[in-house]
Amino acid sequence: MFSFQHPVQIHFGQGIFSELNDVLSSYDHSSYIIVMSNSQIENGLDRLVKSQLGDRIKDVVTDINPNPTLDNVQKIVNVMEQHEADCVIAIGGGSTMDAAKAACAVYLQSIDINHLLEHEDFSRALPLIAIPTTSGSASEVTPASVISDKSNGLKVPLIGQGLYPAAAIVDPELTLTCPPRITATSGIDVLCHALDCLGSANKNPVSDAIAISAAKLAFENLERVYHEPMNIEARENMALASMMAGVAFSQTGTAAAHAFSYYLTSNYDVPHGEACAFTMDAWYVVNAGLDPRLDEHAKMIGFSGAEALSERFNSLKKKLGLALTFDDLGIDRADMETIIGRGLEAANMKNNIAQPDKEEVLQFLSVK
Ligand SMILES: [Zn+2]
Repeated sequence: MFSFQHPVQIHFGQGIFSELNDVLSSYDHSSYIIVMSNSQIENGLDRLVKSQLGDRIKDVVTDINPNPTLDNVQKIVNVMEQHEADCVIAIGGGSTMDAAKAACAVYLQSIDINHLLEHEDFSRALPLIAIPTTSGSASEVTPASVISDKSNGLKVPLIGQGLYPAAAIVDPELTLTCPPRITATSGIDVLCHALDCLGSANKNPVSDAIAISAAKLAFENLERVYHEPMNIEARENMALASMMAGVAFSQTGTAAAHAFSYYLTSNYDVPHGEACAFTMDAWYVVNAGLDPRLDEHAKMIGFSGAEALSERFNSLKKKLGLALTFDDLGIDRADMETIIGRGLEAANMKNNIAQPDKEEVLQFLSVK
C-alpha cells in the first residue's frame, strides 16, 4: 500500500523565465518580495524580473549564506513584514530557496526565530514561487528546507507540507551560467537523490518510475554539461532530471548516502552533493544485495546490473573531479568511526533498505 501526492504546480521549459509575468498571471498575487542569490544579481536577473513585474516587486533580498542561517531567514521576514507582500519569489540555488521557504513559514505562523529549529508544524506558509538556477537541490519541488544555527553548529532539515512551493518555474537557460565545479557537485546530487530514492525502504512503483527516468537522464547528461556548459540540450536534460528526482524523493525521503553526508558537510565543509556521492556507489550495491529490484532498476537505467551502475557512478565522480578517497577529502582515517557513528544515527538512515551495523560499514568504507 502507498499514497502519492505532489502539490507543486511545475512550469518547465527553455525561455519560460522571460514569460514570468504571463506565468504568474494565473496566480492571485499582487505584490512580491524577491529573494535572490548574489550571483544572479551579477547576471542581471533582478533587472529582468523588474522589467516584467514592475512595481509589484516591493523589495529584493540578497546575501543568503551557502548554508542559510537563522539570520538570513529573519532578514527576509523583516522585509516581508515591512511590505506586507502576499508572495515571495526565490531565484537561486538550494540555499536561496530554502531560506525563502523557511521565511514564508515563519512569517505566516509568527514563529519565534530563536525556536524555529525546534518548531514542528510546517503545514502552513506564505505562497512561494521557486525558480532554480542550478540543477541539483530540487528544493523547488520538495517539502524541506535545511537551516543552520551558526551559534551551535546545528544544521536542521525543516519538513512539512507548507514548505512545498506553490509553483516551480524551471528554465534550463538559467543554469547556463552555472560554473563547472557547482555543475558537478549539484549534478551528482541529482543522481544521489534518484539512487537514494531507489534504495529507500519507502519506495513505491510511482517514485521508482520517476527516479529511474531521472537517473537515466543524469547518467547520460552530467558529464556533457560539465565539459560543455553552454550545451542547452544537456542543460535541459539535467534540469528535468533534477526536478524529477526531487518529485521522487519528496515522497520517499532520502536514504543512506544522504545520512552519511551531513557530518562530512558540517564538520569538514565537503559540498553537499560531493558528500552524498562519497558513499552512494557503495550503498547502491549493498541495497541491491538485499532487494533484487535494484538490479532490475539498474538495467532499466542502462546498465548490466547494480555492480555496473556503481562502477559507472565511481568513474563519473573521477571524471568530474570529485573525491574518491578519504585522502582526497583531506580527512584523517582515524575519524572514520565518528563519521560512521554520525551516519548511522541520522534520521534518514532509517529510510534505507540495508540497516548495517558499524562493523559492516567500516568494512566497505575501509577500501576508500
Ligand atoms: Zn541531496
